[in-house]
Amino acid sequence: MKLMFLGAPGAGKGTQAEIVSEKYSIPAISTGALLREAMANGTELGTLAKKYVDSGSLVPDEVIIGLVKERLAEKDCANGYILDGFPRNVSQAEALDQMGIKLDLVIDIHVSDERIVKRMSGRRVCKDCGRSYHTESSPSKVEGVCDVCNGELLFRKDDDPVVVKHRLEVYHEQTEPLINYYSKKGVLVTVEGQEEKAETTKLTLAEIDKVRNK
Ligand code: AMP
Repeated sequence: MKLMFLGAPGAGKGTQAEIVSEKYSIPAISTGALLREAMANGTELGTLAKKYVDSGSLVPDEVIIGLVKERLAEKDCANGYILDGFPRNVSQAEALDQMGIKLDLVIDIHVSDERIVKRMSGRRVCKDCGRSYHTESSPSKVEGVCDVCNGELLFRKDDDPVVVKHRLEVYHEQTEPLINYYSKKGVLVTVEGQEEKAETTKLTLAEIDKVRNK
């Protein structure tokens, strides 16, 4: 099963991708997380990506496409995967087509811009394992500490309201056209992002079941 989560930054793609990954034992591949890891490790890729990620712009296509190609060639992707944050524009989607990859389902999680801005200010991300929390809707058990690995929870620099505004503009201009792109291919469904993440998960899993039972 090859899935992709589409949606504005902060719509909850990462959280849903992790839940689906655990349920079906297939990896969730977040290009944002791969870039943040490279940045934290100070690799060549991380150094190159930093200025784009920190300002909320897209990292150049050739860099991100190369990164995804390498990741998808790893053994754990043999039985499928969940893409989170890739493709982010039509040329990246075309590159995926050219790799001969046919997605079974693209789930667009829809959340209004107004709610996104509100959500992002409360988001905290584990510095070590990348798990996301929210100070109000899904807090960690101990404030500032990851439930899973005890890592420190940080506010992402690109979750600053000014950067979020730019990320939303980038989303509407460059990523939103993918709704039409995948709709034409007959693989797109839209899930209305709910306040309770468990409710969004229910809707998401129902859509996945429809495809699995086909
Ligand atoms: P995310 O965690 O998915 O919100 O991604 C964080 C940042 O990483 C984005 O704002 C971009 O700067 C960069 N990024 C992640 N995925 C991509 C992609 N597919 N293409 C270009 N840039 C990306």
